[in-house]
Amino acid sequence: MLSTYQYPKFDYVRPPELSGVGKKRYPVVVVGAGPVGLAAAIELAQSGVPVVLLDDDDTVSVGSRGVCYAKRTLEVLDRLGLGEPCMDKGVSWNVGRTFFREQEVYNFNLLPQPDHKRPGMINLQQYYLEEFEVKRAQELPKLDLRFKNKVLSVTPEGDGATLQVETPDGVYTLETDWLVVADGARSGIRRLMNLDIEGKIFKDRFLIADVVMKADFPHERWFWFDPPFHPGQSVLLHRQADNVYRIDFQ
Ligand SMILES: Cc1cc2nc3c(=O)[nH]c(=O)nc-3n(C[C@H](O)[C@H](O)[C@H](O)COP(=O)(O)OP(=O)(O)OC[C@H]3O[C@@H](n4cnc5c(N)ncnc54)[C@H](O)[C@@H]3O)c2cc1C
Repeated sequence: MLSTYQYPKFDYVRPPELSGVGKKRYPVVVVGAGPVGLAAAIELAQSGVPVVLLDDDDTVSVGSRGVCYAKRTLEVLDRLGLGEPCMDKGVSWNVGRTFFREQEVYNFNLLPQPDHKRPGMINLQQYYLEEFEVKRAQELPKLDLRFKNKVLSVTPEGDGATLQVETPDGVYTLETDWLVVADGARSGIRRLMNLDIEGKIFKDRFLIADVVMKADFPHERWFWFDPPFHPGQSVLLHRQADNVYRIDFQ
């Protein structure tokens, strides 16, 4: 429950396959309507490729998650038709300040030149990004976005894969030439297929707090090492939309 944001509830629609009228094979199926799966599906549909996007949930991500979007990401969001809503809602910033204890020891400006189309960064709660992506996805005729559709199994077969998909009305089968797996960091599908994830895990733990506060702070990122209010640790402060300040305590 947030005082500044009402979680949307997206409609579930009975898939045509359950009535025996759906096309059974698609060029591309994307699993997971988080920021990554939505972006991939929008990109494909905009390029003329018919795509089915399946998600087991019917809302956006809950809680405080992704915050900052850099210039290159803003360019990609522009290409997806999402630059304007994200800019309008997000908090633009270019200056970051680093403090050791109570003293500023470093600062940077991500956009020292004037007249760029986009700022160095915007801060925007992930649930807003996903809401804008869903709205964009629903405008595209080649994109079939299905909520409350959970992929139960994936069987690679010849030049494609067969999926079992569970809905409130029962289970159906889909075949696809290509499968984009975007079901998150703890991907159940990767586990089902015995696929590992390559990369490094950042072991630190953080306490994340979103504080609604009317304050006259500049639109800047502040980063403290060993501050008096959290000795021996680091703290990060970002201003987000709706006067929500995100504080990450190491
Ligand atoms: C507490 C927290 C704080 C974070 N803070 C930051 C931050 O400050 N900055 C930052 O950049 N990132 C942050 N992240 C990470 C960021 O949220 C993720 O990188 C991002 O959500 C990944 O997007 P995604 O689309 O890959 O996966 P997800 O957002 O996880 O989306 C996966 C989707 O797939 C669906 N799904 C899963 N299994 C199935 C299935 N079998 N069938 C159908 N659908 C399925 C899920 O319901 C979900 O909608 C944070 C994450 C957390 C948890």
